[in-house]
Amino acid sequence: LFEGPWDFVWASTRIDDLPPMIGQEIAFAGRSNVGKSSLINALTRRNALARTSHTPGRTQQLNFFRQAGHDERLTVVDMPGYGYAAVGKEKVAAWTRLIHDYLRGRSNLMRVYVLIDARHGIKEVDETVLATLDKAAVSYQVVLTKGDALKQAERPAMIEKTLAAIRRRPAAFPEVLLTSSEKGLGIPELRAAIARVLAE
Ligand code: GDP
Repeated sequence: LFEGPWDFVWASTRIDDLPPMIGQEIAFAGRSNVGKSSLINALTRRNALARTSHTPGRTQQLNFFRQAGHDERLTVVDMPGYGYAAVGKEKVAAWTRLIHDYLRGRSNLMRVYVLIDARHGIKEVDETVLATLDKAAVSYQVVLTKGDALKQAERPAMIEKTLAAIRRRPAAFPEVLLTSSEKGLGIPELRAAIARVLAE
């Protein structure tokens, strides 16, 4: 599924500028600096497909990736990072609007992967996003990033804590994956989880 090569195909800042829906789509969301670009690059085995952000909060756009020659197979969407403190209220509103409109209209969107920093767990700003997904009835799965930053013995407890936090959320898939893009931890498991969703 993820055998490359992947290409950047589209960027949208406005809801009337989305690429046509072709095949199935999955999306990745998370706070700025959560490790979203790194995870997308690890999944697609491309070093710089999703540019790792040196200026967090800057890219307020939806980035679309597809595999050359397999447009109909899978589209991966990199959603703009949220929760960056220096971003003004106006930008937050624009983000919320774009995301809300995108989620509502995208019938080929199979699942959103919400990335959470394993060192910090689910924060209030993440809760807001989860609530948006629940409200839009878009299926999502929580994926912990930077799992290597936790000692091996601490990882199961973090997974359990995160699971407990989403237990009552209607659109949350009841499994939490712990990953590390740097160490390759949980990446095959995430690929397999995505393959299962697409085969449903
Ligand atoms: P984005 O803003 O969500 O796209 O995050 P990036 O992928 O740009 O990563 C943000 C920061 O987290 C960078 O300094 C990365 O080096 C670091 N990072 C990303 N993935 C990992 C990981 O698996 N483990 C650790 N320890 N750090 C990571």
